[in-house]
Amino acid sequence: MTADLVVVGAGSGGFGAALAAARRGCSVVVVERSGAIGGNANRCGVNNWEPVCGATGFPHEIYRRLEQIPGAAGIYGFGRHCVWQGTDAYPGGEHVLFPERSYRDTMVRHGARSLADDEAFVRENLFGVVFEPRAYEAVLRQMLGETGRCRVMLGRTVASAGASGGRLQSVTLDDGLQVEADAFVDGTGDGDLARLAGCELVSGQESRDAYGEPSAPDEPNDRVNAVTLMFRITAKPEPGIDPLPDDLAQERAVSKERDRAVACDWAQRFPLVVTVEYPNGDRNVNMLPTMDGREYLNEARKPGGHERAYAECRRRLYATWRHLQTNWPEFRSFAVDSISPEIGVRESYRLVAERVLTEHAILRPIPEDDEEGVIAIADHALDRHGEKGGAMELKHPFGVPFHCLVPRGYTNLLVACRAAGFSSIAASSCRLSRTMMQLGQAAGTACALARDDNRDPSEVDLAALRRELRADGVQLSWPMEPEVGRVVGLG
Ligand SMILES: Cc1cc2nc3c(=O)[nH]c(=O)nc-3n(C[C@H](O)[C@H](O)[C@H](O)COP(=O)(O)OP(=O)(O)OC[C@H]3O[C@@H](n4cnc5c(N)ncnc54)[C@H](O)[C@@H]3O)c2cc1C
Repeated sequence: MTADLVVVGAGSGGFGAALAAARRGCSVVVVERSGAIGGNANRCGVNNWEPVCGATGFPHEIYRRLEQIPGAAGIYGFGRHCVWQGTDAYPGGEHVLFPERSYRDTMVRHGARSLADDEAFVRENLFGVVFEPRAYEAVLRQMLGETGRCRVMLGRTVASAGASGGRLQSVTLDDGLQVEADAFVDGTGDGDLARLAGCELVSGQESRDAYGEPSAPDEPNDRVNAVTLMFRITAKPEPGIDPLPDDLAQERAVSKERDRAVACDWAQRFPLVVTVEYPNGDRNVNMLPTMDGREYLNEARKPGGHERAYAECRRRLYATWRHLQTNWPEFRSFAVDSISPEIGVRESYRLVAERVLTEHAILRPIPEDDEEGVIAIADHALDRHGEKGGAMELKHPFGVPFHCLVPRGYTNLLVACRAAGFSSIAASSCRLSRTMMQLGQAAGTACALARDDNRDPSEVDLAALRRELRADGVQLSWPMEPEVGRVVGLG
């Protein structure tokens, strides 16, 4: 099979790349491991987009389509938070719907001092989007389908990649099918395609020596952001504490050890939770976190490790749910409706790219010149969960240069997902779904422009790329340029 572009992984980044390239006339093959498109935002229960600036382009278009479907999406803001009202009032953060708010309200995060110090700012300014995963996936499918040029292969993965001299020629799928293309985008979240192509990837925190980042540790370590198994709760007619599922209840009966695990002794304390109200009144529940990132990655590297990690996260989830229902009676009016089929991974492997986004770049204002080649902007806090976690709000938005997507020494492969060229510190900020989708939009646009100019994507004309992105309503400056605001209808 041949195509202009092969995209591996159909999450936020992969979707953005496939759509941008296909809309510009490229034939695109998308290879997705799971049975659905949407990635984390669908399969891992991350059915919300936190506030982030720059969220124009495709995310805004998706929201406008979701708005047309009754009950598919809404704007949420802060209800209660334990840092303001104490944990007796709420065991973490509560997000509720604000029907009078608009998408525009979800496009700023920076400027707050911290959640604890700046309640008034947070209440007035921090809003996000919540959506139904099925509607979300249907909209993504519709958008790809409309291009007529995108072939999506679900339940398939890449077994090997044919590369030489810094160029990929083809990928071979697990069933033996070979797909040749002029350009490739890795949207796997973990850099799987880049690894198969022989690119260098890293994991864990760099030391301060690596990039001179002020917040980096003295020595490198293997710490990565923690993982969460998300779940959804729904109102039930008779309030009460839910029985444990049979397998966990039995474990309780037979083993004291297991009893302790079920009772969540694993962290010496129960995690805080963030809940988000869906338009139908259900709640999305995000434990912060379910498992340490290292614990997860170490397990996931072993055969059968994913399944074992999932089983352990599920056990912790039910223990946390029991704890919530026992101590906050309001949760007794809800029952667990569903548990996400996959664990949500915030950080695993990151690319050694032609350019690495570091804490320095996150803390400086957006570079405006075309040479820097900023192709997405964002302003999420530096935000780590688990051991030595914490959040630091940003004073202003930052820009992501195009060459953070280009593996060092490669010319026709771009990595447009959370495995792009970020330091561990930068990754803790630059990882939100909408930001990843914008990296994807830029990568797909770059592949199409490069094809038109008969060159490889790494050599794309950055001025032209930025011009095209702006023409497609992508915000690359702060505050928003009037022309972009006009294109996207956000003024
Ligand atoms: C628990 C949690 C909560 C979060 N909360 C928020 C939030 O509130 N708001 C927000 O904006 N962001 C949030 N994030 C961050 C955000 O969801 C992710 O960083 C972002 O979605 C990552 O996008 P991606 O494109 O890199 O990867 P993904 O969206 O995960 O997509 C990767 C895709 O590649 C596929 N894949 C993987 N390997 C292969 C392979 N070898 N072959 C083929 N396909 C493959 C996967 O199945 C998946 O579909 C959260 C993340 C987590 C984990």
